[in-house]
Amino acid sequence: MHLAEIAALRAIPAAGIQLALTQRCPLSCAHCSTDSSMGGTQFPGGPFRRLVESFTRDDHPEVVLMSGGEPLLRAGLVTELAGRARQAGTRSYVLSGMYFARSGRGLPGPIRRALGSVDHLAASLDAHHEREVARAEVYRAVHAALDLVPGVSFQVTGVDDDDPYLAETVADIRREFADRVPVLVTHLQPTGRARARPPAPAAGPVAAPAAGPGPCDFATWPLVGYDGTVYGCARQSLLDRHRPAHLVLGRATDGWPALRARREARALLRMVRAIGPELTQRRFGSGEPAGGPCATCMRLSEEPATAARAQQYLDGAAGRAVERMARALAEDRDPYRFVARWGSARYSRLVALGWEDACAG
Ligand code: SF4
Repeated sequence: MHLAEIAALRAIPAAGIQLALTQRCPLSCAHCSTDSSMGGTQFPGGPFRRLVESFTRDDHPEVVLMSGGEPLLRAGLVTELAGRARQAGTRSYVLSGMYFARSGRGLPGPIRRALGSVDHLAASLDAHHEREVARAEVYRAVHAALDLVPGVSFQVTGVDDDDPYLAETVADIRREFADRVPVLVTHLQPTGRARARPPAPAAGPVAAPAAGPGPCDFATWPLVGYDGTVYGCARQSLLDRHRPAHLVLGRATDGWPALRARREARALLRMVRAIGPELTQRRFGSGEPAGGPCATCMRLSEEPATAARAQQYLDGAAGRAVERMARALAEDRDPYRFVARWGSARYSRLVALGWEDACAG
């Protein structure tokens, strides 16, 4: 599965689901967005298995995205989940910090089996990460993975589009892999360990913030947290601290059909997806939004009347039309739009690198 296909699905409600398999990670990157460490939270795999077992040929997400912490610390679980998902027609993606590349002895057996079972591997790279795993070691492991996984990409993170690290690293990856491996470029966010150490801005003009007002694309794919709680928002670091009612969909063990139906029934979540949290607050709440989109979103459930007014609007012709328009925009399946809006606009077209090779293959 090519990165461009995943990027095209990213803005479509319930086209995918994200599983945070563990908060454990053997690396200690200074800006880890999920504050992961080997002392992190890890629950049994049962709820993740029950959820994936509930996918059927007729009712399943198109993609299951496995993240952490370091999901490949649970290589056996990744192998199992990817295999079960595929039986229902769901493809799988795993995002890894490539800790296993440090051994320099090739891919360990359990990692080879996990990579042989997934449809896409994304390898993380950023300046802090390179202090934990050398770039040359990551490259060696990615070259080996290319023989095992149908789709491989890099996820490279920098301060902003003017960060010289991004220009140098992207050029180096393009050279090393002869433009056959796509690259998703993102910006450091003040979440996890980065909250305590805000990144120093790169020299030059300051880029616009990634998250602005307007429809929220993160309210599209549900997220299963480390403990099996399922959220309607994919911003894990926020949900570790706040659990507003409109963003909590239930438990992984409730199964995909019930969770998908609940997502479609949540008026506030649907409005956040269609017009954004700030406009939702202005239109249906009392008082002005404050503190930015996510801070506003976290408070939307506090007044029950806000959800009731949003539901009434969605039941009417105007609400249905607004939602239809938002959905139509997402369903144009533009692979660059989500990336340009929430990651790097300058580098957004790199998600399609290697697309012709993937099609020819
Ligand atoms: S606006 Fe709400 S749904 Fe969107 S990312 Fe922020 S908290 Fe999540």
